Amino acid sequence: MAFDPGKNVQDYLVFGEFGGVNPSITDSSTYTFMNPETMEELFNEEKEGCFLYSRHWNPTDKFLAEALARMEDSESALVTASGMAAISITLLQICESGDEIISGRTIYGGTYALLKNFLPRYGINSRFVNTLDIEAVKAAITDKTKIIFCESVSNPLLEVADIPALRKVADEYNLTLVVDNTFSPMIISPFRLGAYIVVHSMTKFINGTSDCVAGCVCASDEFIRQLTDITSGASMLLGPVLDAFRAASILKNLHTLHIRMKKHSENALYLARRLHELGITVHYPGLPHHPQHKLMASLMNPGFGFGGMLALDMEDAPTANKLMQRMQEEQVGYLAVSLGYFKTLFSSPGHSTSSEIPPEEQKEMGLSEGLVRMSIGLDNDIEETFRRIKKCLKEVGKL
Ligand code: PLP
Repeated sequence: MAFDPGKNVQDYLVFGEFGGVNPSITDSSTYTFMNPETMEELFNEEKEGCFLYSRHWNPTDKFLAEALARMEDSESALVTASGMAAISITLLQICESGDEIISGRTIYGGTYALLKNFLPRYGINSRFVNTLDIEAVKAAITDKTKIIFCESVSNPLLEVADIPALRKVADEYNLTLVVDNTFSPMIISPFRLGAYIVVHSMTKFINGTSDCVAGCVCASDEFIRQLTDITSGASMLLGPVLDAFRAASILKNLHTLHIRMKKHSENALYLARRLHELGITVHYPGLPHHPQHKLMASLMNPGFGFGGMLALDMEDAPTANKLMQRMQEEQVGYLAVSLGYFKTLFSSPGHSTSSEIPPEEQKEMGLSEGLVRMSIGLDNDIEETFRRIKKCLKEVGKL
């Protein structure tokens, strides 16, 4: 079938005996042209809508990207080989040497390391501030600032960003607000709340099966076009393309995301409440004492809950370690980094995913040595899970 640039890839779905319910996987790195002129036009950016080479675009990635853009309500989207790739190409597309980024200080350790250790090698420096404090954000802005970066629900402390307030600051100073929505897909829609660009690690909830690493950037048509520009796009030139087979499997999982998020949230809220009642320090935005509980309630989409992540403070590292060991033995879940899996996963961020953040900075941001971050699974009998966690807490001397 000839390609019509006016159509979306969805328009190419075929019904009938050869029309599978899932889009076909494009098993090609390169694409044929009917004549050399069309190929030349594409290189000269006079033609859009054709597929050229899979590092640029491939039809399967496009199907997934279109679904993600619909989910985030952005004009367009791009899928990438990891969440870090989505973040790094976004920052590198916008910033050049001499520019600055203002970033939330409680962010994923890998992003922190990218901003703190790697990007300065290319003259891009970052200031880490408490993005909950809007005055502190304003105070950190200089004439070099280009981006405000934050996580909608932060890793690992589950602080909730006031996206509309950050957007106002971004507009006042002509900055781009970039929001990482990895912890709260469907729950928070940063684009609708004012983000200019939304990034995700699809490795987590969006895929939900912990069998691959992937990411995405949701943004305007113009920004996605810039990222994929053949001669100047960070995606095209740095090359973090998502393999079509993976894109196809993530697309299938994406269709159950709404149900999974509801169940992750329902289970996490149940555990957060019961553990709080036992006197355990629990960080969970669904609990009324969480500092941004009301803010989150005002920002979130109804029906998906407050998310599947919670953190327990065991105060010291040895107790946190013992608890995690016992919880694994009791089959509460797995001692593993990452999140959004159908089973519960737990790790101690200070010694794993946030270990890139120096100890004194961890202390300043309130990241306790004994924090146990839990990604709550889709357990059918969450009361039984609670009984097992309670047993482990007793054994480590916390009850
Ligand atoms: N953003 C957040 C909030 C994360 O938790 C992670 C990974 O843990 C990333 C980005 C990076 O994603 P990936 O591991 O897919 O590169």
